[in-house]
Order: sequence, then structure tokens, then C-alpha cells
Amino acid sequence: MVHRVVATAAVVVLVGGAVTGGAWLRADRADQAADARTAAQDRVAGAVTASADDRSTQVLDDMTGVRADTLGAQGSAAAALAAAVTAGGEVLAASDGAVTDEATRQALADELAFAQESAGTSPLALRAVVLRVATATAAVQASHDAWLQQQAAAPKPPPPAGTTKPTSTTTTTAPSCETTYTGPPFYTSPPTDGGDGSNGRLPASALTAISWDVDPHGTPYYLKNAAAAALERLDAAFVAAFGHHLDLDLTYRDYDTQVAMRDALGTVAAVPGTSSHGTGLALDVPELPCEYGYGTPQRDWLVAHGPSYGWVVPSWATQGGSNPEYWHFEYRG
Ligand SMILES: [Zn+2]
Repeated sequence: MVHRVVATAAVVVLVGGAVTGGAWLRADRADQAADARTAAQDRVAGAVTASADDRSTQVLDDMTGVRADTLGAQGSAAAALAAAVTAGGEVLAASDGAVTDEATRQALADELAFAQESAGTSPLALRAVVLRVATATAAVQASHDAWLQQQAAAPKPPPPAGTTKPTSTTTTTAPSCETTYTGPPFYTSPPTDGGDGSNGRLPASALTAISWDVDPHGTPYYLKNAAAAALERLDAAFVAAFGHHLDLDLTYRDYDTQVAMRDALGTVAAVPGTSSHGTGLALDVPELPCEYGYGTPQRDWLVAHGPSYGWVVPSWATQGGSNPEYWHFEYRG
């Protein structure tokens, strides 16, 4: 039955002169035009995707959880743009006064403003805007990372002997992104050769290096195996929220380093053999109050979400605690 209907229609097209045949041909041409438009849109979409470099695509994936090449429908494109704008805004806020190239932040601000005006445009146009925002966000993040590297590589020298510390009049000015740490530099430790598993003497078999960063000396950041695995999962969620990895300053610290710290810093440092860093179950983020200080989006997020992954703030390190260290977190499983 179906075959017969098709055959009849084909005859009408072939004879051409019938009134119904003319309508058929117009409909057929309209279908062909629509097909050609779709093909053209697919080619442009392919070109847009190809024009984005790997970094921006990766950042986009990280930020949105949506692969760029699967975007297409209006809903998912709009959702991806909303996620990219949120992540871009957070990176912009977190990098205020903390980039090596301020022009990258201005460019991101421009792209975010442009994105606000793009609502309601086609999925293809939205996808192009997502990639522009992601690329601008990646540029700011790179500039911010470079700035943090500079800070880590050139710690502030201690004030010359005889000078006094600034009084409270300077501590009431706007938040600064300078480190609050004024002691000599200490670095995270590699596993302890022949370690017996006691505090500060953990062998390589007890430790796992986290995957995304090393310290300024090139030493991987080691944690107890379970703590490292949990931190990898926590970091994946952090990346989704902020568009960049969790910054680390110190994880495992061996006994000899703890002795040196105690000598240099006094009672601020734990008694050697008692530090939670010696157990491989503690981490410090950088001592940068505008990045991870009390009340910052990053720290608030870590406090809210860390416990789901076993990472918590011990009570002594809280803002009202006995030794308020906004940078310190511990794994409790
Ligand atoms: Zn610590």
C-alpha cells in the first residue's frame, strides 16, 4: 500500500503539468533548501569547534561538564553558556589584583558583558559565545597562575632588623593578596627512605602523589593513599565549581622538616612527631587571604563540600579556634 502511494506521487512529479504536481515540486525544493541550510550550519559548527584550541575546549569541558561537540540544542547551549558565565565570573572575582596581565581580566569582563546580551540567539551562536568566554577565562586563569608562581618564587623578605611591624592602621585597609606567611620558606616532603610509618617517617608505599601539581622545587604533593584518592575526587568537584585546580602549598612533611620549622617558627609549628602533616593526612592551601582566607568563595566551598570527601577543618583552625589557620585541612575519611 505504501509503495503504491509513492509510485503514484512519482508519476505526478514526472508528468509535471498537473496542478498537484507543481505543489509537490515546490515542497520538494523547500525540503532540499532546508537540508542545504542544515548542512551549512553543520559545517559552520564544525569550523567553530575546530577554531577553539584544546585548552579552551578543555576548560569548557571542566567548567560545564558538557562536551563542546555535543552542544547543539538550545537548552544545552544555554545551560553551557550559563555555566561558563558563572565560572568566568568566579575566576574574574578571584583574580582581582592577582594577575600578571590585567588586560586578560578586562577581556574576560568584556566577554561576560557580551554573553549577557546573547540570550535568545541560536544554539550555534551561543556555542561560539561559550567558547569565547571559556577562552577568555583560561587566559585569566593562566595569568593568575603565573602571578601565584611569582608570589611563591619570591617570598617577601623579612623586615630589616630594627624596624617594627606595621600597626593596626595598615591592617584595616582593603584585603591584600600578599601572603600572610612571613617565615622562611618550607616545602612539601618526598616519602622518607626506609620510613617506619611513624609521624614524619612515611615510606613511599604509604603515600600517593596528587596528579595535578608539584611544589616550586618540583616535589610532588604526597598524601596517605586514601587521602590522596579522596582529594582527587574533591579537586574534580572544585574544578567544576571554579574552573581551576585546588592550589596546594604543603601536604606531607617529614620529621626533619618539622624540626626545622619548630626551630624557625616556635610554638606556631607543631612539636616534631605530632604534626598532622607528618601523618600524610593534612594539606595546606597557599597562605593568600584573598584566595583562601576566611569568607572567600574558595574556602567557603571547601568547608561546605570537603566533608563529603572526608576533608574537614579541625576546630582549632577555624576563625574562632585556638590556632586559626584558614589554609589548613585534614582528612578524616
Ligand atoms: Zn597545615
